[in-house]
Amino acid sequence: MHCISTRGRAATTGIDAALLAGLAPDGGLYVPATLPRLALDRPGATLADTACAVLRPYFADSRLASLLPRICTEAFAFAAPLRALRGEHDYLLELFHGPTVAFKDYAARFLAGALSALRAPNAPITTILVATSGDTGAAVAAAFHRRAGFKVVILYPDGRVSPRQAHGLGCWGDNVRCLRVAGTFDDCQRLVKQALADAELRARWALSSANSISLGRLLPQIGYYAQAALEFHARHGMPLNFIIPTGNLGNACAAVLGRRMGLPIGRIVLATNANDVLPRYFAGADYAPRATLATLANAMDVGAPSNFERLRHFHRDDDELRGAVSAQAVDDATIRDTIRRAPQQHDIVPCPHTATALHVLATLRAQGESAPFAVVATAHPAKFETIVEPLIGHPVEVPAALAKSLARPAASEPLAADDALLRRLLIAA
Ligand SMILES: *Cc1c(COP(=O)(O)O)cnc(C)c1O
Repeated sequence: MHCISTRGRAATTGIDAALLAGLAPDGGLYVPATLPRLALDRPGATLADTACAVLRPYFADSRLASLLPRICTEAFAFAAPLRALRGEHDYLLELFHGPTVAFKDYAARFLAGALSALRAPNAPITTILVATSGDTGAAVAAAFHRRAGFKVVILYPDGRVSPRQAHGLGCWGDNVRCLRVAGTFDDCQRLVKQALADAELRARWALSSANSISLGRLLPQIGYYAQAALEFHARHGMPLNFIIPTGNLGNACAAVLGRRMGLPIGRIVLATNANDVLPRYFAGADYAPRATLATLANAMDVGAPSNFERLRHFHRDDDELRGAVSAQAVDDATIRDTIRRAPQQHDIVPCPHTATALHVLATLRAQGESAPFAVVATAHPAKFETIVEPLIGHPVEVPAALAKSLARPAASEPLAADDALLRRLLIAA
């Protein structure tokens, strides 16, 4: 599969080179030059098999082609169940059964498997730099932990992640280094960008990134939408509609691509927190990135969604895009209220991110919408227990994967938000 840049000024490249590069040289994002059409009907197939079938056409001429089944088996090793909720036609797509109990585990593990397989045997150690607002860093650390040929350096904003998120970032050790930055997520992202743009650092330390702009993180996410939609279609004979908690638009962009590939995906509705750049755009305003607001759903605290450029690329113009997707913002008070009421209403405890989508579902139902909708559950509530437990009045059971990482000791190193200090630290390592 040929890949091109959203900005159209970079050379066409193969998918392996696009995975290794991350960002395109013209500053754009890599996208597949065409989207393969799938005619899949696979009731009973495992998640890994479905993901592999979805990804196969993209990797047909890749060095990974023959390794794809193994990489998918490793990446999609845990279920993504579609659960019926108490309300009729209401479903929950649970994407939180991986090692860091958030959906980013699937794609991070796929990327780790793919980059490992693409590595030349004698290549110098690759250092993966990740800026994280909480979940990405943990998923990438878990995916690359003790993987030969890789080091991971995580930067997270000190004091702005949940205590269990902080633990999940600092508990790995070995080839994973965790830096708590005196600053915001935007500061962390700036430090990573500056390091990646530093030609000498890049060459000497084989720096790479693993954030949500990587095509290797975007494409595998189509896998669980395919599995849920195909299963639902086989059983009910209709497409499944999705409500997706959204920040950088990576997860939702995968659902849009899956629908364009011909999967039985119906409407795609984005739920954001108070960072409402996307809802404003989809309601007809110009696309206008803003400074990020801190909210209870911190993994969605994004003022300039990085995958917007990709989403726009796949549509002729703003009108077509606005017809393809809709979006609604949910403030912190409503997130709290939704978490408080979810045990009664739906018999579940949602994390703050999932709560935004649950509220959007309630809005649609109040408007008389009767089509089947799956709320995408992006993280397990136990990771955000300091927010969730006071609202529901009892402890949230800790899943085994989370208990395992909580049992490990955690450590992090302080770093001032200063690129010269990060540079020195990387060189000394
Ligand atoms: C990353 C994340 C999101 C947002 O996903 P995007 O792909 O950035 O839109 C939502 N919920 C949780 C729990 C996350 O970790």
